[in-house]
Amino acid sequence: MTEFSDDIPGYDDENIFAKILRGEIPCHKVYENDDFIAFMDVMPQAAGHTLVVPKAPSRNLLDADAEVLAKLMPFTQRIARAVRTAFSADGVTIMQFNEPAGGQTVFHLHVHVIPRHEGMPLKRHEGGMEKGEVLMANADKIRAALKTTPKS
Ligand code: 5GP
Repeated sequence: MTEFSDDIPGYDDENIFAKILRGEIPCHKVYENDDFIAFMDVMPQAAGHTLVVPKAPSRNLLDADAEVLAKLMPFTQRIARAVRTAFSADGVTIMQFNEPAGGQTVFHLHVHVIPRHEGMPLKRHEGGMEKGEVLMANADKIRAALKTTPKS
């Protein structure tokens, strides 16, 4: 893991995704393996907005371990395929932000997987909170789609 210089803070294990990974706060889980967890974004920019989160601690892409990054893309592909199927999406937007200037607000590496439909703009980043029952139903749909999604 690369060290940050003094003017960039390091990893803080009290961030919200670290708490989710430790089971201290709940999430609407889609899938989990030894290396990653995928769960619903509570403030979705479109229905089905899912977050892929490596279990290994890193602040973002800039300090992440290369081995984690090598596994992250195939895992993200699998989730993206299931998200596309679950929401009959025309496309999928993948986003990943680094540091506040790069748009990052939660400082544990994660990738956004957002189903897209022709002509439908994304909602605002960190807009409104979605209802728990909607997130639960959307997670169910993606879980069902994963059963028929080939592994990379
Ligand atoms: P970032 O801006 O860091 O790339 O994205 C952080 C994302 O985490 C945002 O899209 C935001 O909606 C989402 N988020 C913030 N707090 C929580 C939370 O407590 N649970 C879940 N599931 N998502 C969260």
